[in-house]
Parts: sequence; C-alpha cells; structure tokens
Amino acid sequence: SEAVVASIAAAVAQAARGLNRYPDREFRTLRQALGAYLERESGVTGLDADRIWAANGSNEVMLHLLQAFGGPGRTALSFAPTYSMYPEYARDTNTAWVAGRREEDFSLDIDAAIALVAKVEPSVILLPSPNNPTGTALGLDSVQRLLEATRHSGPDGAATVVVIDEAYAEFRREGVPSALTLLADHPHLAVSRTLSKAFGMAGARVGYLAAAPALVDALRVVRLPYHLSAVTQAVALAALAHTDELMAQVASLRTERDALATWLLEQGLDAVPSDANFVLFGKFEQRHTVWQGLLDAGVLVRETGPDGWLRVSVGTPQETAAFKAALVEVLA
Ligand code: PMP
Repeated sequence: SEAVVASIAAAVAQAARGLNRYPDREFRTLRQALGAYLERESGVTGLDADRIWAANGSNEVMLHLLQAFGGPGRTALSFAPTYSMYPEYARDTNTAWVAGRREEDFSLDIDAAIALVAKVEPSVILLPSPNNPTGTALGLDSVQRLLEATRHSGPDGAATVVVIDEAYAEFRREGVPSALTLLADHPHLAVSRTLSKAFGMAGARVGYLAAAPALVDALRVVRLPYHLSAVTQAVALAALAHTDELMAQVASLRTERDALATWLLEQGLDAVPSDANFVLFGKFEQRHTVWQGLLDAGVLVRETGPDGWLRVSVGTPQETAAFKAALVEVLA
C-alpha cells in the first residue's frame, strides 16, 4: 500500500544520511525485530537477536549454511522434487549433492528418509516446508523424528544440520505448525524464512533464519564483511513495522488459494493440497501445450516440477479470474 511505500521511503532517506559509514555489521536491531515477528507469528518464545541471522534473501542464508557446514568431502541431502537452487549452493561450496525421492503424493516417507541419512551421512539436510514446487508441508512428527535421527548422523558422528526452509510458511493452512516450535530442544535445527513471499518484498532481498546461538555464530564467521547494507536493513525494519497490514494480505491469499484448488478439482483436474501461495495442478499429457495456450491468452504460469504438472501462483482476484477463463478455453 502507499502507507508501506511511504514508510520505506522515509526509512531509506534516513539511511541515506549515514551512507558515508559502513552499516551495522551485526544488524542487531533488525535481528531483534525479525525475532519478535517470528515469536508473534508462531507463538514460540525466546527468539532473541542471538538466535536470528539474516542475509540478502534466504538464498544467501542457505549459502552461508553450506559455507559453514558443507565443503569438500561433505554432503548435502534433499528429497526431490524440491527447490531447484539447493544443488547450486552445494556446487558453489564444493559440497557433494544427493537427492532422495518423495512419494507419489509428494509427501516424505520418513523411515526411508532416515535410512538414506544413515547411508549418506550428510553434513546438511535441506527440506522446504511447504515444499516448492508442490506446496506440501511436512508433519511436525516427521521433522521431530528426523531431528532425533540426526544428532550424530554426520561424518565422524557429528550432528547433521537440518534446515527446514519455511520460505512459504505464512501461507500454511490452519493447524499446520512451524518447525520453530522444535528449536529449543534441537541445536542442529535451523528454520529459514524470507520477506520475499508473505511480505511481498522479493526485490528487497531479505531472508533470515532462527537457530541456536552457536549455529548462528558459525554463520557470522563465513559471511562477507558488511554483507547486509544499511539500506536493506532500513527497508526491512520499515516493512516489519507494517506486519498487521501485510499479514491481512496473506490471509486473503490463503482463502483465494483454497478456492482455486477446489475450482481446479471441480474441473476434473488434479491439484496437490497446498500450504503455499501456489497450486501444482495437472496432470497433462502435453503440459507445454497447456502452458503455451495459457501464455497466448496472457497468463504466465510456471512449467516446473514433475512432468505433467504446472504451477500457478495465487494472485489478485482479477488475475485468478483471468487464469480460470484462459484454462477453460485451453482445455476446451
Ligand atoms: N526457498 C524456497 C523453497 C523458495 O521457493 C525460494 C524462492 N523461490 C527461496 C527459498 C528463496 O527466496 P529468497 O532468496 O528470495 O528469500
């Protein structure tokens, strides 16, 4: 809204007056504000600045994790289909990459996952919940079992760092808990979040995580000096001051998402139950033809994920209406 824009502009003007100096490299004011936001969003307490880290997007947060805990001779593990950037962080840090499989319904068979962990001895596990591109959230019991199984599952009996990537967590359905609730008992857990999705601020490049202070300290060692600019810090703080308004938007997107998934099912299509701000739908013999037909009608969706599926993001009611009209036309 214009009110958020005005706050951000004022905060950037203020930051501009101090740009002759390097920024606060520990950015404790921002870490405290992010922790306070997470406490409010999840009901978890004790998330003070020592337990929060931030960087230029959660992409950089996860690169920091692999710089700190991956590296030559070590392995990172995830379960496909999953976020396509994970193997890039592994490649960039000379970390070996192993991808297990998710089930047909895109859930995770936790017994099979734990067996693979025992075999691979990974230093880091990257698990998005909700998953991209499927929208599937992990059950807390599964995460808990994985955390118990990873206390000594890394090389030489070290703990495996388990990263639950909650980039889309604010869109989760009622009753789906956040892995933040497991932080207190698990020093090898990191829960990653971002302002890119729920706050609608992908252009600002602000991602963050919550973890035990010792884990956060390891990330302070590998980041570049002054990696988070004074402008970025100012923008993020200004946006967080508008949490109420931005969360109202999330609530309406959730409603819109559920209605869209129901509508897709009513068209006789498959739609994967989603806790994110998109829905994976299909299955199409020729998904590219459907994708092209939608594009020709002015609607761009993602041709991503397992063969036969397409991913539609939840937008404004007008955008959703345009998508539905175009899809009906294409399928006819
Ligand atoms: N995790 C997941 C699962 C994502 O889908 C994305 C973005 N598409 C990110 C992390 C990265 O987001 P950002 O770097 O903008 O915080």
